[in-house]
Amino acid sequence: MDRVFDVAVIGRGIVGLAHALAAARAGKSVIVIDRTARATGASIRNFGFVTVTGQERHEMWPLARRARDIWAEVAPRAGIVIEQTGLALPVRRPAAAAVLEAFLDTEMGEGCRLLTDAQLRALDAETPFTRCEAALVSPHELRVEARDAVPKIAAWLEQSMGVTFAPPATVIGCESGRVITSAGLVRAEAIFVCPGDDLTALFPGVMAEHQVTRCKLQMLRLAAPGYRMARPVMSDLGLARYEGYAALPEAAALVAQLRAEQAELVAAGVHLIAVQSADGSLVVGDSHDYGDAPDPFHHDRIDALILDEFAAVLGAAPPVIERWVGVYAASPRQNWFSREVTSGVHVTAVTCGAGMSTAFAIGERVVGAALNSAIKEIA
Ligand SMILES: Cc1cc2nc3c(=O)[nH]c(=O)nc-3n(C[C@H](O)[C@H](O)[C@H](O)COP(=O)(O)OP(=O)(O)OC[C@H]3O[C@@H](n4cnc5c(N)ncnc54)[C@H](O)[C@@H]3O)c2cc1C
Repeated sequence: MDRVFDVAVIGRGIVGLAHALAAARAGKSVIVIDRTARATGASIRNFGFVTVTGQERHEMWPLARRARDIWAEVAPRAGIVIEQTGLALPVRRPAAAAVLEAFLDTEMGEGCRLLTDAQLRALDAETPFTRCEAALVSPHELRVEARDAVPKIAAWLEQSMGVTFAPPATVIGCESGRVITSAGLVRAEAIFVCPGDDLTALFPGVMAEHQVTRCKLQMLRLAAPGYRMARPVMSDLGLARYEGYAALPEAAALVAQLRAEQAELVAAGVHLIAVQSADGSLVVGDSHDYGDAPDPFHHDRIDALILDEFAAVLGAAPPVIERWVGVYAASPRQNWFSREVTSGVHVTAVTCGAGMSTAFAIGERVVGAALNSAIKEIA
């Protein structure tokens, strides 16, 4: 390409698109380069659940609040339907109710409520909740259909924000001002590499330094059950996984109880998220298997564990109509990072399962700082 862009973004997953949006809002000319013609990675395989409540308290929770607001601005402009809002988290154990009470006493509980079993049923009469000890209800979340939403963001960036999407090409190197691809050279003053879980193609040393590995998850779609869930649903197991709850001192007793009572689910990293799509079907998951090269196979036993937890919270599960695995970048060291690896070349990765919930805020922060530019309101 003869044209020199202000900004090149590698990766058309949600992290790359978030950087492209921020750069376009800064008034820059932007090109996005990806090896595939449409997103096929973690960004279209997830729940589309933009989760605020339960995110790690000090950094991810504020990022998620900002990202949720950007989602709310982008969605109508890009033709994305917000399928559900909020969160219901009914728990079956007194130890889990104690975690929810402690959570509500923190600043993260703002806007959330703790309900009794009867109050939850009155609030949401249609969802067939089993009996609970208590339930947290949050108003903060948004849920989109990820496989539709991410391509729609790309189309909107191209059509309305002036972002160029290069024909599919693998990026094999980045230097200051130059992106070397399998289809030739692209020149750009600033380069943002957002490679998701690709650990070895670009800057493997940076990935290794940040202890980035992979996490494989199993996901299910269940047939429309004939009821509408007013909001996404989680359960006790989520309190042991989501750092905003799990880091509270009250969570220790719950974690010990879950390990004793649901050892196989805990070992497989299973927790419950159940969300509903426009056609009534439910997206339900998930499990967590960590390693640089997790096996690519779908295991029936893990699906059965996920469905057991579903049944414990929502009664008999409808038939499974779709199964898939997803993989995201993960690290025990940090939830995300962005690093300038050489002058004008930045690598950004979300290294936990919260990229849909935080990427828009991360892109805004990273691009604003790197370009030293004001990021304008979305027109
Ligand atoms: C099953 C599952 C459920 C999840 N649920 C949620 C959820 O409910 N809420 C939430 O917030 N998060 C969730 N996540 C996490 C979230 O999906 C990820 O954090 C996020 O999608 C990561 O986005 P990304 O853009 O970094 O990666 P990706 O979507 O994987 O995109 C990376 C892109 O970079 C491209 N690329 C990489 N290297 C090169 C190269 N050298 N040349 C050209 N192109 C390259 C790839 O082709 C790819 O398109 C979930 C993840 C999974 C897998």
